[in-house]
Amino acid sequence: MQTDVFVAGGGVGGLALAVKLASRGVQVTVAEQLKNESPLYKGELLQPKTIAILDHLAVLPEVLEHGHKIETLAFQEVNVNAGDPPEEIESTDLTYNRIASTYNYAIMIPHEKIKAILKNKGSHYGGYFEYLPGARFLGFENGEAQVKYKKQAHAVTADVYIGAEGRSSPTRQAMQVSINRKDYNHHFLTVTIPRPESFQEGKIVTSRTAFLGMFPLPDNQIRTVYMIPAGEYKAIKENGLEQVHEAYGQLEPRLKEDVRSIKDWKQIQLMVPYTYHVDKYVKGNLALLGDAAHTVHPMAGEGMNLAIQDADVLGELLTWCKEHKKPYYAYLPYYEQVRRPRVEFLLRLSHLSALVYSYPYRWWRKIRMRAVDRMYEDDRLHVKQILNTSGLGMWDFSLVDRAIQGSVLPVRKKKVSDIRQKRYIFDENDDYPWKQNDNRKG
Ligand SMILES: Cc1cc2nc3c(=O)[nH]c(=O)nc-3n(C[C@H](O)[C@H](O)[C@H](O)COP(=O)(O)OP(=O)(O)OC[C@H]3O[C@@H](n4cnc5c(N)ncnc54)[C@H](O)[C@@H]3O)c2cc1C
Repeated sequence: MQTDVFVAGGGVGGLALAVKLASRGVQVTVAEQLKNESPLYKGELLQPKTIAILDHLAVLPEVLEHGHKIETLAFQEVNVNAGDPPEEIESTDLTYNRIASTYNYAIMIPHEKIKAILKNKGSHYGGYFEYLPGARFLGFENGEAQVKYKKQAHAVTADVYIGAEGRSSPTRQAMQVSINRKDYNHHFLTVTIPRPESFQEGKIVTSRTAFLGMFPLPDNQIRTVYMIPAGEYKAIKENGLEQVHEAYGQLEPRLKEDVRSIKDWKQIQLMVPYTYHVDKYVKGNLALLGDAAHTVHPMAGEGMNLAIQDADVLGELLTWCKEHKKPYYAYLPYYEQVRRPRVEFLLRLSHLSALVYSYPYRWWRKIRMRAVDRMYEDDRLHVKQILNTSGLGMWDFSLVDRAIQGSVLPVRKKKVSDIRQKRYIFDENDDYPWKQNDNRKG
């Protein structure tokens, strides 16, 4: 088999890359080991930058049709007393509409649906898009990708090979890059249940010892994530489902009845958060994308966004190389140059958000409540947090910001203007700098 670009792994990242390449006349072959949909829960929250990318791939109308728009994330702190409704002690909203962009909202969509939409789009590009279900990428031999497909071994020759196989990546192994894994003191139980129709926005409710995240999906469903101490899954399971039903009902009375739709532990998935970031994305004509290169704590809902955002930059680069007859290997380092600092930044942001909810101490909770509250009262903190999370831009927190968050300095009264904010929103030159550099050289 021969192709321009070989992609190992047809997850969201590999598929977004393949659609972009095929749509611009670059021939791509995707080998995906699964034959059918995966039953696993994976990331479902699309952040604004990803929505912009999906719009450019011409799939946004379909994504909107099958997704649920989220404009606000509510953070609520409660005290829980058995038998009584939760007592709210603080409530803060983070609103996407503070972002100075038309993409000022998020979308919740089932993971497999977004993959189906991308696959369907790819199939419209005829000879440029080849998707092989049930094809397992085994590694490289003599510079060619070895793929087991329909019980036979095939060699695929390509100009560029992309490792998009997720967390366990044979391409990463072949590149001999190192990863630095960080684990956490908590795990999550995650399950999708029905929701009342009026439950429309994202919400995180916390007590001193409990954390429940709730993100509405279409069709009156809601994805929930409940934090448990690391290593306690077995004990919690032994205590029975009733304990889970009660915990949900105590933290969010609106789900008190719906949570009882969980009748079997098989409906619940254990999610073990950890992070890593490879020391290089590119080696010769090999490159890594998405979870093969980095894994992020799920707290900020960034997993599949980082993969699709990688795909956008890499896809644009490879397309441009083909259009301008430039050698891929010479330009691939631009991909890492653009993506590494952004990914590093979001890994740090997600890590900090995870720490905020990692300890049950009273004093820790007080700090958390103050920090979250300040995020709402101080517009610049609010804008920075939501802009950074969105992926549309990067505006780092300063020492003054942190001092305001810690109540060492007072809240600023001034609102951030759109003009100011736009300075920190990525433009084409930030996303695809090789084009500009090449023009300058020319
Ligand atoms: C169990 C789980 C739960 C998650 N939950 C969340 C969440 O709640 N929120 C969040 O933001 N993120 C979550 N994530 C992370 C998020 O799903 C990923 O960041 C995102 O899917 C990364 O996309 P990807 O395309 O890089 O990798 P993946 O989505 O992992 O796709 C990789 C694809 O490659 C295929 N593959 C693997 N090896 C081979 C091979 N040798 N040959 C051919 N194909 C291969 C796999 O079958 C898969 O389809 C979760 C991840 C996991 C694993």
